[in-house]
Amino acid sequence: PDVLDHLRAGEGRAGDGVGLATTPAAEFYDLVVIGGGPAGLGAAVYGASEGLRTVLVERSATGGQAGQSSRIENYLGFPDGVSGAQLTDRARRQAAKFGAEILTAREVTALEVNGAARVVRFSDGSAVAAHSVILATGVSYRQLDAPGCDDLTGCGVYYGSALTEAPACQGQDVYIVGGANSAGQAAMYLSRGAKSVTLLVRGESLTASMSHYLIQQIEESPNIRVRARTVVEEAHGDGRLERLTLRDVDTGETEQVDAQWMFVFIGAAPLTGWLDGTVLRDERGFILAGPDLSADGRPPAGWELDRPPYHLETSVPGVFVAGDARSESAKRVASAVGEGAMAVTRRPPGPRTGVPQRYAGAA
Ligand SMILES: Cc1cc2nc3c(=O)[nH]c(=O)nc-3n(C[C@H](O)[C@H](O)[C@H](O)COP(=O)(O)OP(=O)(O)OC[C@H]3O[C@@H](n4cnc5c(N)ncnc54)[C@H](O)[C@@H]3O)c2cc1C
Repeated sequence: PDVLDHLRAGEGRAGDGVGLATTPAAEFYDLVVIGGGPAGLGAAVYGASEGLRTVLVERSATGGQAGQSSRIENYLGFPDGVSGAQLTDRARRQAAKFGAEILTAREVTALEVNGAARVVRFSDGSAVAAHSVILATGVSYRQLDAPGCDDLTGCGVYYGSALTEAPACQGQDVYIVGGANSAGQAAMYLSRGAKSVTLLVRGESLTASMSHYLIQQIEESPNIRVRARTVVEEAHGDGRLERLTLRDVDTGETEQVDAQWMFVFIGAAPLTGWLDGTVLRDERGFILAGPDLSADGRPPAGWELDRPPYHLETSVPGVFVAGDARSESAKRVASAVGEGAMAVTRRPPGPRTGVPQRYAGAA
């Protein structure tokens, strides 16, 4: 219940005073969606299907993290699983079919508030403006902080790209770093072709961090080995990964192993630094929205409307967040899609109750 209410209340109407009167029509939209993962694609499908002039901006290609997943087995309606690339490609086509414009290879580097307009600026300095913006920028993989890894990234050390590299790993020994579902899925996927897959896990076991079904699949795979309490101390190689130094977390003992392939899945962080000074975020950089902005019952600093932020609305009226980039989000495809849809859902008319009325007149 967000973008449509914001527009209906006239809060997002660009007036004469916003300095955008001469902007060509193609540069002004009802809705700009930033990010082409499940949340952004969900928002684009629902925005365009509600008749909003919608543009989705993606810095690389659509799909997001989900597009990297070899097999998503817990997304509703796909009992046999679905590859993330297939799922998100269908979503892209669906958004386009409803009339959403999709820009790829365009990175957004700034968000500006210009009166009632929200201006989204690209890395080349050009911009589009809109009544509303949905931030669906997800998260990016954390880098492994061990000597050698930076230099060998893309040359034997990979972050979240198990799918594309899989054919080259046929018949070889593969190392995967991480104990969460993304690491488990990559292990299952790569184990089909690789000679062996070794999962390096810092914790005691996979139980605390991985879904039960994946643990079972891993246990049943003869060529997957789990090394708990083990971390990568250093990556070695002359232009290409050749060896890893592994360290036992408990004893401190190290060991060198031959390794040509290492895939790293050690968590992710939102890349939201470009929102500095505009949108409030939590201490880890995730974007705050709705009730999380006003834990003490007061409006967020600088909030000028006499209603509180809608559920997925950020500290800037008319700017919403959906998916993994949101503080305390579920980090699942279904919830990302759901939030993308929810951000543009129509709220039934009628008086508001509860929290929304508390701010009336208080701002
Ligand atoms: C390998 C893997 C397997 C997974 N498996 C499952 C699973 O089985 N089931 C499940 O439910 N979930 C799974 N997940 C999690 C799921 O994929 C994510 O929760 C989901 O993709 C989040 O969607 P999102 O749209 O919020 O963000 P993302 O998917 O992260 O998409 C964000 C998009 O925004 C773009 N972007 C970022 N910044 C900018 C910018 N400044 N300008 C323009 N574009 C930008 C990025 O390039 C990216 O395409 C998996 C994740 C991974 C990595």
